[in-house]
Amino acid sequence: MASMIVTGGAGFIGANFVRHWRRAAPADEVIVLDALTYAGNRASLDGVDGVDLVVGDICDTGLVRRLIAARGVDTIVHFAAESHVDRSITGPDAFVTTNVVGTHSLLKAAKAEWLDTGTGRPHRFHHVSTDEVYGSLGPDDAAFREDTRYQPNSPYSASKAGSDHLVRAYHHTYGLETTTSNCSNNYGPYQFPEKLIPLFALNALSGRPLPIYGDGMNVRDWLHVGDHCAGIEMILRGGRVGETYNVGGGQELPNLAVIEEICRTVDAAFAADPSLATRFPEAPAARSRPTAELKTFVEDRKGHDRRYAIDEAKIRGELGYAPARDFATGFAETLGWYLANEAWWRPLLGRAAGAR
Ligand code: NAD
Repeated sequence: MASMIVTGGAGFIGANFVRHWRRAAPADEVIVLDALTYAGNRASLDGVDGVDLVVGDICDTGLVRRLIAARGVDTIVHFAAESHVDRSITGPDAFVTTNVVGTHSLLKAAKAEWLDTGTGRPHRFHHVSTDEVYGSLGPDDAAFREDTRYQPNSPYSASKAGSDHLVRAYHHTYGLETTTSNCSNNYGPYQFPEKLIPLFALNALSGRPLPIYGDGMNVRDWLHVGDHCAGIEMILRGGRVGETYNVGGGQELPNLAVIEEICRTVDAAFAADPSLATRFPEAPAARSRPTAELKTFVEDRKGHDRRYAIDEAKIRGELGYAPARDFATGFAETLGWYLANEAWWRPLLGRAAGAR
């Protein structure tokens, strides 16, 4: 690879991937294409050298074609999306526009420049998707495999499923060299504080309630974003064209267990570092109270999927993938990052208000 467009590279996973790729392949040119929606943030790329941020929309096929042609792009890693399930329930249109129409716009641009011009140039279109396309599992159902039937239940997962099908079709019909990864719930640095892990960590620091949907027993597989980026690198380097790979963290946990781990880790951090009580005086932990007292059960999300679980045998067997962190280790690292980077998240709290 020599020149790569990372769509959505100013978002959570995209920004982590850009940082990962700069370390993994420092000679490559990296162009971030990002519309800087509420979820995109220039500051997530601060301090990364050699990255060109182009503020633009993936729906702008002409712009993408010009970038591919002018910059000799041979790889697109596609993260840009509307990504928050709750927002898709109250406003699904943006999800169809960005996730379905936007992905199709990128595929058209890639086909036009890589195939129709007849250069025969080796290329790769890697599409980042979600395990939510497979629907919801019962407690004893087998984990999602790559050939599990698609049964998306939310407007978000339905729009991602649509994009997955388009990527598949562009490979089968036109021969575009694609790969797709379907990953589980990510957490780690630079995650916008509307998603569960940063929302709960930052609410714990400011003494706000920790709102738990339903009975708190919805199960997710938790994947540290660093492990996810390592998995995408393996697929880019060794994945078979036309294939999809599930990427998981090997950490299937009910939300209540996740929340308890968050509370325990915050309590331990305050016990170990007395300066946190001065910085975050509203936190129960600042008064030696348990963070767990902030737990509040709220009405369940509409259509809330009960359980997701990832069978990662394919990526493990073919590419040697193995997540390096369990949830306790990964969350402790993540909390440390948020404590050290208040200047990154503090300005975002207004934008995230009311979301979760
Ligand atoms: P995010 O919401 O943090 O970031 C999305 C980025 O895309 C933002 O920078 C935003 O500005 C940009 N964007 C949105 N619409 C755009 C458009 N029309 N044109 C250009 N840029 C646009 O999302 P994330 O959590 O980093 O997720 C990245 C990808 O991974 C998404 O495709 C998502 O579906 C998938 N995914 C995420 C998770 C997770 O746990 N976060 C899990 C599974 C799959």
